[in-house]
Amino acid sequence: MSNCVMCSTVLKFINTPTFGAGKLNDGGIVCTGCYKKINNANPSIAFKLKNFTLQQVKEILQVKADENVSKNSRFDQIKAELNNLNLRNSSLFLGRKEINELPQILADEEKITNIIQGTYNNGHGILVSTTRRLVFIDKGLVYGLKVEDFPLDKISSIQYETGLLLAKVKIHTSGNVAIIDNVEKTSARQFAEFVRNYVSQPKEQTVVMQNNSDPSILDQIEKLAKLKDNGILSEEEFAEHKKKLLEKL
Ligand SMILES: [Zn+2]
Repeated sequence: MSNCVMCSTVLKFINTPTFGAGKLNDGGIVCTGCYKKINNANPSIAFKLKNFTLQQVKEILQVKADENVSKNSRFDQIKAELNNLNLRNSSLFLGRKEINELPQILADEEKITNIIQGTYNNGHGILVSTTRRLVFIDKGLVYGLKVEDFPLDKISSIQYETGLLLAKVKIHTSGNVAIIDNVEKTSARQFAEFVRNYVSQPKEQTVVMQNNSDPSILDQIEKLAKLKDNGILSEEEFAEHKKKLLEKL
């Protein structure tokens, strides 16, 4: 009688993979439960288990487990971002297959800023706007995953055209127009307006504006307030100084 080299379960006819499929390169045998685990992690290794040692198989399973941990925490982050967007029909979005692909498609620091559903190139999927691009994701049963990117700095304009119930969102990039059709009307308008504002707002300008607002002015007002509290400045004098300082902001 022998035991599974991975989980030490006693191997019987009923829990031993058939045709010697559970046999490892260094002679050990794994039970059907462990064989399934290996197969889930990497089917091609499970298929040729006799080419791998126990140590190699354990390493492969560990890598897979680590991948899953980081994937899951990123997925939780993405779900939280989506919830914060207060989307219309958010339950419909969160149920879509494409949402599960987001951890692999988005970069770690890339944040989701908006999202709509629609059709593009005959496929139904989601159009996600992030801090660096628009990305259309369509996960079909037959052809698998289709992903198309529209980097924000390549988008010259974004428009929407409304019909009775549905709308089209048109993304103009250098010489090309991508049309996302069959989008819910209100979402399409909100999405297009959001992206338009986002794209037209030069990032440098926001930084310059922040630099212009001098924090020392606020400090000065605070000091004046103390002088007033101590009775050194009158209410009127304080108000006058404050007004002048605020004008400089
Ligand atoms: Zn086992």
